[in-house]
Amino acid sequence: MANQPARDEPVDIRYDNARQRLEISWADGHESAYDYELLRWRCPCAECAGEMGHPGQLQFVQQLRPEQYALHSIELVGHYAVRPAWSDGHDTGIYAFDKLRGMDETAAEDLRRKAAGQERALGPGGGAGRDGSGGSSGADQSTAGNR
Ligand SMILES: [Zn+2]
Repeated sequence: MANQPARDEPVDIRYDNARQRLEISWADGHESAYDYELLRWRCPCAECAGEMGHPGQLQFVQQLRPEQYALHSIELVGHYAVRPAWSDGHDTGIYAFDKLRGMDETAAEDLRRKAAGQERALGPGGGAGRDGSGGSSGADQSTAGNR
């Protein structure tokens, strides 16, 4: 039998409303943290992210309202996902663990930027996860050249 711990299997899930982040400890020992706002932008439900041929509503907004990324509660969905309920009442996004693990680096980079007070690539135009029309709606990403 395979003895190695599954990469996308969480052993502990915590959320911290003060810091607005969801933290996951994975079976292989890795730790991930996800900013609520990033999670909300990445909501995978049909309404937010769209379905085949239909754009999701998040593609038409530039900014989220604070209640849209304030976590109200979060529940497990089987053994494969979590379903957060946001303070605006939205709770249809089911975040599979393999997806969450897959966006781990994006999330870490996002938190670094947030901590550094830099502009973050959160919205539909920025970052990974959404392919298609090359970003014409350009928030110019000023690469701070301070080394
Ligand atoms: Zn959604």
